[in-house]
Amino acid sequence: MRKKIVVGNWKMNKTLDEGQLLADEIIKAFSVQTADHVLKIIAPPFILLASVADKLKSLSGFETAAQNCHHISSGAYTGEVSAAMVASTGTNYVIIGHSERRLYFGENNNLLAQKVNTALANKLTPIFCIGENLTERNANQHLEVIMKQLKEALFHLPSADFSKIIIAYEPVWAIGTGVTASIHQAQGMHNYIRSEINKKYGIEISSAVSILYGGSCNAKNAKELFACMDVDGGLIGGASLSAVDFTAVVNSVAE
Ligand code: PEP
Repeated sequence: MRKKIVVGNWKMNKTLDEGQLLADEIIKAFSVQTADHVLKIIAPPFILLASVADKLKSLSGFETAAQNCHHISSGAYTGEVSAAMVASTGTNYVIIGHSERRLYFGENNNLLAQKVNTALANKLTPIFCIGENLTERNANQHLEVIMKQLKEALFHLPSADFSKIIIAYEPVWAIGTGVTASIHQAQGMHNYIRSEINKKYGIEISSAVSILYGGSCNAKNAKELFACMDVDGGLIGGASLSAVDFTAVVNSVAE
């Protein structure tokens, strides 16, 4: 059975004190209801990564993720954080290819493929984001765009490495907008992604890969999105900044 996963992406929110408080609130909420059927991953900003990883160690079924890492192992890259540094905090996951990184930091599929390689070489599991923007969706190019992202950033991987990847489908027009993909759109795209993975890597890998949905997913709409056959959980932005909302989203994953 595929792993059900909910990832909370705090983005560039929370100071040191605020982030620790939120981690404590999450710990408190999950000390009474563990939701063992869901892997919960928190992705705080870099400065909070070590302390949040440390706090969550005591809680079963929780992991941390970095929101990014550099594509080169180490060296003179002022201001950057390497995959090895991320791993040294006790973190096992890294978000790669988020649309905000693609849009604001010019990260393209070629660079993202290198980040994926570096992450894997440092034993980090990439949570790899793909998604089309509104212009592409309106032009009916969404399948093509997704295929290109998969092909250029992930399909160079040998099967043993690809099987470690978590995919997050995040239509750019749904991120932080309050507009969510419909059930039909989400299931349709997740099914398409899985079928392309099947063509490339075969049924064993395609049926095991977790494909998360992201884009204005919250306590109100998570249940019906997560009920889709090919949706294995969510990558949650805004709703992960409140322990109450994050807990409700996690609890929306059916057992
Ligand atoms: C995200 O940034 O990955 C995301 C899904 O954000 P939001 O939930 O706020 O749309």
